[in-house]
Amino acid sequence: MPSRKPSARARQIAQFKASGDDLGDLFWREEQHQERLEARRDEALYERSCARKKRYATRADAQEAIRLCEEHGTRGLHSYKCSYCNGWHLTSHPR
Ligand SMILES: [Zn+2]
Repeated sequence: MPSRKPSARARQIAQFKASGDDLGDLFWREEQHQERLEARRDEALYERSCARKKRYATRADAQEAIRLCEEHGTRGLHSYKCSYCNGWHLTSHPR
């Protein structure tokens, strides 16, 4: 930036180096990295446990769907209340 005085920038850098925060900065970067990974994991979880699934408004609707599936030979399904959309989904892998 042309408006910034080089001397002020140099002083900032010197202060930063003197403060011994290099390591803190490293940790901070690592933290940011972990947060990004976590956000990606959350997104994948959301995709798997909500976005791709059929949504039922009530538990009764979900149970009814399970009953219909069982009639067609699909067993072992469970319903759960979704924390993303507050609807109900079916899963064959209860947590
Ligand atoms: Zn959902």
